[in-house]
Amino acid sequence: MSDVIRLLPDSVANQIAAGEVIQRPASVLKELVENALDACASVIRVQIKDAGRTLIAVSDDGKGMSDTDARMAFERHATSKITDAQDLFHIRTMGFRGEALASIAAVAQVEMRTRRQEDELGTFVEIAGSRVFRQEMVQCDKGTSFQVKNLFFNVPARRRFLKSDSVEKNHLLSEFYRIVLVNPEVEFYFYDGDEEVFYLPVSNVKVRIDQVFGNARRKLSQQLLSLEAETSLVSIHGFIGRPEFAQKSTQQYFFVNGRYMRHPYFHKALMMAYNQLISPGDNPPYFVYFEVDPQTIDINIHPTKTEIKFENEQAIWSILTAAVKESLGKFNIVPSIDFDRDEVPDLPSLQRGTQVTPPPTHFNASYNPFSDSQQGSSYSRPAVNWDSLFRQDDHFDKPSEKEPVQQVISSEAQTSGAYFQLKERYILTSVKSGMMLIDQRRAHVRILFDEFLNELSVRKGFSQQLLFPENIELMPEDLPFYEQIKDELRILGFDIKVEAGRMQLSVQGIPSRLKSPEKVTALLSDILHRTKSAYGEPIEKVREEMALALAETAAIPSTGRLSGEEMAHLVDQLFACPVHLYTPDGKTVMVIISQDEIANRFN
Ligand code: ADP
Ligand code: MG
Repeated sequence: MSDVIRLLPDSVANQIAAGEVIQRPASVLKELVENALDACASVIRVQIKDAGRTLIAVSDDGKGMSDTDARMAFERHATSKITDAQDLFHIRTMGFRGEALASIAAVAQVEMRTRRQEDELGTFVEIAGSRVFRQEMVQCDKGTSFQVKNLFFNVPARRRFLKSDSVEKNHLLSEFYRIVLVNPEVEFYFYDGDEEVFYLPVSNVKVRIDQVFGNARRKLSQQLLSLEAETSLVSIHGFIGRPEFAQKSTQQYFFVNGRYMRHPYFHKALMMAYNQLISPGDNPPYFVYFEVDPQTIDINIHPTKTEIKFENEQAIWSILTAAVKESLGKFNIVPSIDFDRDEVPDLPSLQRGTQVTPPPTHFNASYNPFSDSQQGSSYSRPAVNWDSLFRQDDHFDKPSEKEPVQQVISSEAQTSGAYFQLKERYILTSVKSGMMLIDQRRAHVRILFDEFLNELSVRKGFSQQLLFPENIELMPEDLPFYEQIKDELRILGFDIKVEAGRMQLSVQGIPSRLKSPEKVTALLSDILHRTKSAYGEPIEKVREEMALALAETAAIPSTGRLSGEEMAHLVDQLFACPVHLYTPDGKTVMVIISQDEIANRFN
């Protein structure tokens, strides 16, 4: 089989909200296990250490990767699962954004071993903080195994944001449950350290529920009734709790087309059907599996979101309600599980080739990243609602007052637009927990750094020719360093000729983002200097140094007036950066002064 991974076109990639893929160890588990499932694994092993802080390992016996794919897999927007925007409507795989591995590798130390059935040798890749340290051939089993060590080793603020071991472990387990409950045909192991917590052999949904939630004394399935509805819009099957087993807290799961979802509206439908049968405040367990035409749901919302939009929500609500009532009614007469299928609302069954109207889309097919006059930025994302940043929604963990604020950005949000510039230097805005101040230059350095680094990695920068070339004298000892980076300089948009016989560079073109040539001499000698001090380091390190030198040169000065629109644009771009609390060299970009602190001042 040939290599199968392709890079998504920028226009598509940019329109899939990048968001924050990796928030905690559980996000790593989810992404790696979903990849294993996408690779058609039949056995998946998960191991965690220290609640995933020091290790999350996932191995599978799936199809593995070629050695080229093994490296490509870590590039942002590299995916073998979709090729163009149309494919977004037919998603059957769990992953498709091609950003999980890139995100994990950016914030952890990752080792991967992978081998395809047909290859004799496999590939080993070691990558940490997005830097590739090793790629070599190895002897390994068919399939893929990942070891993700020291999550957030390079993002201390994130590490501090993690909760206690027991909380993180619960997150890991719930992520695990959400996956294993909908993949009973796959065998799973879960180890906490060396202790085997779960061994789940291949089974069916009902047995899987018992494997996960039952114990020696009782089977959860004995408290459940089966649920079935077959219609043209949706097929529903699963289990709901017998009313007398309802409790304050219990297991409630919805799945659609093989993935877990939250659906408050359907939850309500289900609970209403139990009306009068259970006492208020109690909850029946349920495990409900929906199958619909993938074109009638919208899962392309946010990588960490589990809400899913259905095109036919109203109709499905009625079908679900009827099915649950039916199942409970049957129970009233025959108090035991049975698999009889009685009719629910009378709808023709699903037929192949039926015309289905496509759901509303989130992307703009005519989007052209080059038509943007703003700073050459091709990043398009929904505006940020600052109020929602810290909303006390129970689905988000609210950062405690003392901890640095992490990004919880709601993708459907609108911008509040109220920015104030303080001392021509700081952008001030109000957020739920208080007042946020952003250092405008540092924010810009962070944004440009990410952009230059990206240009270096996709090997595409933009050049602008100079009317009058700038000449730069070289010291003889500089020459080898210049040779080392001249390709990178060209990619960034430098057009440089070495004057034959003379130790002189003639700069005829510069990266278009630099705008003016005045600082180019200082910049190039800065880059050369940094290259020298990064001598012997991997090329990725050298690139980071180059990107930082460029960002510092091209960034706005630390003081200077900005318009409201410029501030909004800057803040928006800043929050599109995976790391936005610090500059690449570790300086604080933003601070939050909490409401309490402000209130105290008035006491
Ligand atoms: P996505 O799953 O959205 O495509 P990822 O970043 O999670 O993006 O993975 C990138 C690519 O790496 C996948 O498209 C797939 O081709 C490959 N890959 C990742 N994990 C595995 C695995 N366990 N087995 C085989 N291929 C994998
Ligand atoms: Mg994936």
